[in-house]
Order: sequence, then structure tokens, then C-alpha cells
Amino acid sequence: MTQPSNSVRTACPYCGVGCGVRVQTKPDGSIGVKGDPDHPANFGRLCSKGTALGETLGLEDRLLEPSINGQPASWDDALDLIAARFSSIIAEDGPDAIGFYVSGQLLTEDYYAANKLMKGVIGSANIDTNSRLCMASSVAGHKRAFGSDTVPGIYEDLEQADLIILTGSNLAWCHPVLYQRILSAKQTNPALKVVLIDPRRTRTADLADLHLPIRPDGDVALFLGLLARIGQSDCFNADYVSRHTNGMQDALAIASDVSLEALQVATGLHETQLEAFFELFLSNEKTVTIYSQGVNQSRYGTDKVNAIINCHLATGRIGRPGMGPFSVTGQPNAMGGREVGGLANMLACHMDIENADHRELVSSFWDTDRLPNQQGLKAIDLFDAVAKGRIKALWIMATNPVDSMPDADAVREAIKACPLVIVSDVQASTDTLDLAHIKLPSLAWGEKSGTVTNSERCISRQRAVLPPPGEARGDWWQMAQVGKRMGFPTLFDWQGPADIFREYAALSAHENHGRRDFDIGLWADQSDASYEDMAPFQWPMPKGKQDTPSETRFFKDGGFFTPDGKARAIAVQLPVENKTEPASGQLILNTGRVRDHWHTMTRTGRSARLSAHLAEPYCELSPSDAATYDVKDADLVHVHNDQGKILVRAMISDRVSSGEIFVPFHWTDQVSANARVGRLIPAEKDPVSGQPASKSTQVSLTKVPMGSYGFAILKERPDDLGLPYWALAKCKQGWRLEFALQEPPSTVSADHFERHFSITTQSDPLAYIDHQRANKRFAWFGGEQLLAAVFLAEESVQVSRDFAAGLLAGKWDSFAQRTQVIATIPGSKMPDKGKIICACMNVGQNQIAVAVAKGCCSVDEVGEATTAGTNCGSCKPEISEMLVQLAAQSA
Ligand code: SF4
Repeated sequence: MTQPSNSVRTACPYCGVGCGVRVQTKPDGSIGVKGDPDHPANFGRLCSKGTALGETLGLEDRLLEPSINGQPASWDDALDLIAARFSSIIAEDGPDAIGFYVSGQLLTEDYYAANKLMKGVIGSANIDTNSRLCMASSVAGHKRAFGSDTVPGIYEDLEQADLIILTGSNLAWCHPVLYQRILSAKQTNPALKVVLIDPRRTRTADLADLHLPIRPDGDVALFLGLLARIGQSDCFNADYVSRHTNGMQDALAIASDVSLEALQVATGLHETQLEAFFELFLSNEKTVTIYSQGVNQSRYGTDKVNAIINCHLATGRIGRPGMGPFSVTGQPNAMGGREVGGLANMLACHMDIENADHRELVSSFWDTDRLPNQQGLKAIDLFDAVAKGRIKALWIMATNPVDSMPDADAVREAIKACPLVIVSDVQASTDTLDLAHIKLPSLAWGEKSGTVTNSERCISRQRAVLPPPGEARGDWWQMAQVGKRMGFPTLFDWQGPADIFREYAALSAHENHGRRDFDIGLWADQSDASYEDMAPFQWPMPKGKQDTPSETRFFKDGGFFTPDGKARAIAVQLPVENKTEPASGQLILNTGRVRDHWHTMTRTGRSARLSAHLAEPYCELSPSDAATYDVKDADLVHVHNDQGKILVRAMISDRVSSGEIFVPFHWTDQVSANARVGRLIPAEKDPVSGQPASKSTQVSLTKVPMGSYGFAILKERPDDLGLPYWALAKCKQGWRLEFALQEPPSTVSADHFERHFSITTQSDPLAYIDHQRANKRFAWFGGEQLLAAVFLAEESVQVSRDFAAGLLAGKWDSFAQRTQVIATIPGSKMPDKGKIICACMNVGQNQIAVAVAKGCCSVDEVGEATTAGTNCGSCKPEISEMLVQLAAQSA
């Protein structure tokens, strides 16, 4: 397909689906983003986050020049200082006194440079990535079973399967385009069944024929039960097992020892639910099991992965169309980071740091004698070493550990105490960057160029569509410069990312001969022009691969990367200690993503559209727990444990089970008073992978009564709110703010807000005071422009947020018009859409309700009437739920 002129093919920087996008610069300089119809991950689809990429590219709040100790500095000064300090630390304390904490947001070329600088020059393996928090258990499970970190299948398997099992995976919100692919596969093949295994009834349940509300961490037991049933059934593939696996009899013996009663206790599932699941697996050969963070972020994550893989090995359902275990990664380049050695226990190109042959191979290829011979510190241990003063210099790139790490307050204190902290980022302020001694401005999406690998091993180009702003430079360049200044110019003799990719490809092929899974040797001698034109491709891609049929699945006929070529069925044990049973008076805290935000919101928080769906940090709890804790919907609650407490809004919902709560992890100190949920999560980890257990923390809950509750719209972002509760979100033309005060409305005056919200105007505010209902409203104007409006009440404020936010765009020159701001009464010229459900098309709850009242009975009919759900489809499960609720109300 020909591209329109000035359209650039690139890749979405959010989740591990790795969608292709086409970016067009419009005549007015704005950026248009569309799904790439030719990209094999999405075939033109995008979710709400991908669609809104153009809204996240502005230069406001960007870090645009290097600084040292808060003073602007030149690149030369900053880089010379880093190189000198690294060299002196190595001389005095050894190479292990330096640590790098990098990110799945880095491009592969950046990752390669970081890995080479740390392992090839500094001589330590103390480089770990935030992908440790996301999929390290999948890596460890793959390596235990396959001898390599290989994802056997491809996305096409989803369309070819008869059964898709989603375990610990809320695709509807976290991998929306895969959700869309399965939805459309179901429409094409009504026989396709979907099972959702998740303690929560997430929006993905909309797709499921069977939802198993499993107890947190019950997955090992469930798949042990399944393996035992497979062993007794016709679908046990004795031929595949005997020819291609070791250890299956031991694994089966352990699984068979688990009694039904133990299974029911561990999973929390009834016998009929277990039976229904087992029957579906046994009767559908074409089965894909997708798993992501619900499996990985656990004390038993690696065992869960191997319990799943065992079932596929026992049935030989691997590497063939429509079947296989399938780990779906969270980040856009988590896979690239795995491939390039971004983890503390890996070398580049899927080689092992503890394998002497691999070390020799990489040492000779890089021409270094500094390669470490043992694993470095994984994320939790790395920050522990920082806290203990063993790490003297820490370089953090493209990530925000003060918010995202477990025991986040301890991580913040550790970073504060570290003698040298370097942070490379694109934002001028994050909770982590604010602690840096040396701040280095990096290129953002749209400005940088390189490659990423998605969950199905597809390597795509990310291309620059905008010039580098200010002094911002690529991450690879920053590290290459430090390497050169440390005395190793030839190791970093790269003119651009194409040089790095060629070197990386050559290393992948170096003495490979099919012995290692990762081989992209075809790219070792491609030209700059070929690199520039690279179309998405799946690895492996060794030299000569382009002449062979395009089979990219692994392990159909064995060929595992173990010494004898056989897979290892791991004899996974039922966890003895159950840490996910809430203690008396305690709840189990689960954490995760919301539909329209990404990580710590440094990008999605810039988009008003993406901020409209869920604008506050919240705690989802069941109606029965709400009754126990005397909590009403929209009350404020402390969620707390020995490590700390956070203050969030209560959301009562039957999507969570009694005894469990859910809190999203996106809210930081930049946008909320006290909602960093990472501070509550203990630094506990899976013993094999080192991945933190972020989904099963014991907490308590306490209702926090406030004197008054408020909502405000503000033209300018306030500097320092200093209120007991607040949550700030972007809206069109300004900011929207939820807040609460200790004082009742009767004692609060307009001055209070002028001070806290940095409102500067000569004129008095327009005020409305309803003494009877204890409501107060104030509005400040500058000329005909609305500067701020505040709505205050004793209970949660009853004002349509999206309607009120729209008032900032109006012109208000007469007193009569200004009273409309205070009244916030929607009129025919500006109807109240209600809470935004469809972020792409900006369609609200009220508009959908009107369409339903007029006779729309299905999601598609609502889409035709309102356009809701007609773009990415991420909101379709919510529209579907609204249809059910509205039908129940009218009945
Ligand atoms: Fe980006 Fe959405 Fe595609 Fe993920 S599913 S890569 S967030 S467009």
C-alpha cells in the first residue's frame, strides 16, 4: 500500500502489542496518527492511547537542557563529569559500585548501548530494567522449560485457535488491540471459546464464555489440576512428550497428588467451574494460553509460567497454528530489552552471563576483557544496594522507580542518599528526576529513531517525525559518549542507530549456526537505506532466511535450546504457604492499569481526552466490604499497612470479590496528594525471576471523613496545592481538580482558593452561597476569560465534570452569562455528555443513554447512533455493561 506523502510509518510506544502507526504532519504543524493497515500486529487498528498520541507531543514541561546540581550545563560538562566519576568509582570501589536502571521504553539500540557500556566497559552486570517488574517470570519460565527466552507463537494463532485462555490478563484495557482481534475472531468463528482466569471480573470478561474468579495466586494449583487431568486423558501426547521433553513423569506425579479439595481451596473455585475449564481444554486441541502481569507479578510467577507451559508440552500443543503458551508483555520494547541483555542476568542476543562459552563469544566480539562472570543485581536488590550505600552512582533512564518500584518510599530514600544520581528523561519534573544530581534531556517518541520488538517477536522501526527539541539527545548517544570519554572510543564508534543495529545483528549471528534462538544475522550487513526502509519482521531472521517459507513459530518438532534439544517439564509444587489469604481485618490489594493511562502518566497525562475516562486515583472494593468498612461510593479512604498509607476515592463495584481491592498504579505525587500505591507494596519477589509480587499485598482500609469536597476547573496548573486530598488532570483548555478539605464549606472563603490554586486577578470572584445545602461556588474571570471555578459541598459535589471542564473554552462577558458558570446548567447549545465513555470519539454516558432510550439494543447500534466504540473499541465492554444496566432499570 502506498503511503500518503509526508506520512511516516512508526510504532506505538505504549503496550507490548506493538501496533504500527502512520504519522502525518498536517499543514498547521499538528500531528495526525492512524493505525498502519499494513502492520501485522494491528492491521490498522489502534486503541484509545495510540489514537491520542498526537496530543502528547507538546514541548510544555519538557526537559530541554542538561543540568548539574540544578544549574544548566553543557553536554560536554555533564558527560565529562559522568565519565570521570564512573572511572574514579571503579578505581576506588570496583565496577559493582555503579548501577543502571533502564526501561522497556528504551529502543533496542539504546538498550544495546547501555548494556555494552555497563557489561563491556564498566565491567559489572548491575544493569536491570523496569521490565523486571513486568515479565521477568515469563523469561525465567521460558528459560527453565525451553532453554531460551523464546515466545513460541504469533498473534495469528489467536485467529486460528478454538479456545483462548486468558490468565492474569486484562486485554480489554491493557492490550486492547489483541482484545479487538479476539473479538473479531469470535465474530468470524462463533465456535471460538474464551476463558478468563482473573480474581477480578475485568472488562475482558465481556469477551469470555467462562470467567473463573480465581483466588489471587491460585494459578499454579489450577494448572496442576489441569495437568493431572491431561495425564489421565486421550489428549496426553505421549509421542511428543517422549521425543521432545524431559521430566514430564515427575511433573505429572506431583500434579496427580493434588487432591480436589486442595485444588478447590487453593483456587477458590467450585468443582463445577474446575470441571468446565478442564473439559474445554481437553476438547479443544487448538488452544492458546495468554498470560501477562497477573501471572508474572507474583511470589510464584515462574512456577505459574511453567505450570502453564507443562500443559502445552504434555499435549504437544505448541508451535503449531492456533496453539501454544503465549506471554504478552506490558511495555513496547520489553521484548527488545530481553533480547539485547537489558536484564542483570543476561548478555546481549539471548546469551547467558553465567555461560562461559557465551561470555567468551561476547568478549571477543566486543573486544573487551571486562565482561563480568556473574549476574548483576536485579531491580529490588539493586535499590537495596543503593540504600545500603554499596552503589555509589546510579543512572536511571526513561523510568520512574520512585513511583513504580515496590516499597517506593524506601526506594525514594535510597535514591536521595546515593552520592551520584543521573537521570535521563524527557520530562522536566518527575518524582524520580527531581532527585537527580545530573539531569540529561532525552528524545521523546516522535523524535527518536530505532527499533522495538513486540510480544510476537516482531521487530518494527520507530522513526522520528519531529526534530530534536532544545538540547535533547538520544539515549544511545548519551551512553556512547560516556563510553568514549572513559577511554573506549572504538567500542562506541557509531554514527547512528543503524550502525548499532548492524552490530547487534552481527553479534546475534556470531558463531550461532542455529544453536541460539535469537538470530537476525540478515541485518548485519544491510545499508543505512535498508534500515531506514525496514518493514516489520519476525525473528529469527538469519542470513538466507528471506528465501525460506515464512514459518516463524518455534518447537512444533521440538528443537528446544537445551543441551539435548528437549524441553524441560518443571516439577512445579503446589505453594505450601498461602500468603494471599487476607489476615483478619485485612484485604488483599491488587494493582494494575486503567484503560486510558500509561505507567506514571508522563505522556498520557498530557492528553485531556485520555484523562477524561478516570480522572482520580481510586480503590475498587466490593459492596460487602464497603458495608463492613461503612464506605459509600466516592468517599475518601486510606488504604494502609506497615509501610505507609495512601488516600484515594472509593469505587464500589461487584467486579472485585469480597476481601480484595484494586488500586491502579498510575497516580504520582505530580498529579495527586498521596496516591503512590507502590509505597504499600512490600519488596517481595519470585525467588527464581526476582520479579516483585505487586498484586497481593495485605492492607487495611479506613474511611476518611472530610469537612468539604470540591471540584475545580483551572486555566493554569497550580504550583503547590498543599490540600489534604487532591487529584489533578488535564482537560481541554486547562486543568480539572478534585479535592477535599478538613474545613466545612461554611468556613471556607474565596481567598482560600486564590492562595492554593495560584489564581491571580484584580477582580473579585463571582460567588454563590447556598446556606441551606451548605454549597459554595466561586468563579474568577480575567476579561471575558474564565480563569477558575470552584464547586464546594459537604458531600461529593454534584456537578457534571466534563460539562464544567468545557466552560473554560467559553467567552463570558456579561453578568448573565457568568452566572451560567456558577449554575453549570447544561443548555441545548452545550448539552451535558455525562462521564466520557468513549475517549476516541468523545462520547459520554448521557449520549449513550439517549441512544438506548431511542431503541438502540446492541453495542453496534449504539456505535451507529453515537459513534461510541467505532474507533479502537476499548470502550465496547463498558457500553455493553451500560446496555445491561439500562435494560434492567427499564424492566
Ligand atoms: Fe499502542 Fe494500544 Fe496498540 Fe498497545 S494496543 S500498541 S497501546 S495502540
